[in-house]
Amino acid sequence: MPEASKSLQDKIKELSQTIYRAVTDLKLCVSCGTCVIYCPLKIRAFNNDGKGITIQTNVSCGGCSVCFHRCPEGAIRLLPFSRK
Ligand code: SF4
Ligand code: SF4
Repeated sequence: MPEASKSLQDKIKELSQTIYRAVTDLKLCVSCGTCVIYCPLKIRAFNNDGKGITIQTNVSCGGCSVCFHRCPEGAIRLLPFSRK
């Protein structure tokens, strides 16, 4: 099997070092609680203003995108972060 080109290898390496985190646009959140209910890792909760946010725990949000797809207001973004 031929080796992947250098640029493809670089892209694969970059992607393997990238993780995503769910971040809420608080202006768009209507506090429906959908993300809190459906997050499989149970790391979505309401902040003091009743907005759905990703909480800091020892469990990392892997960016599974459940909340992103379920949010009826499109208030959640999945932002890439490098593991490096
Ligand atoms: S699903 Fe969207 S609108 Fe509902 S609480 Fe979560 S972020 Fe807010
Ligand atoms: S992307 Fe997945 S793990 Fe991360 S907060 Fe949303 S539902 Fe939870």
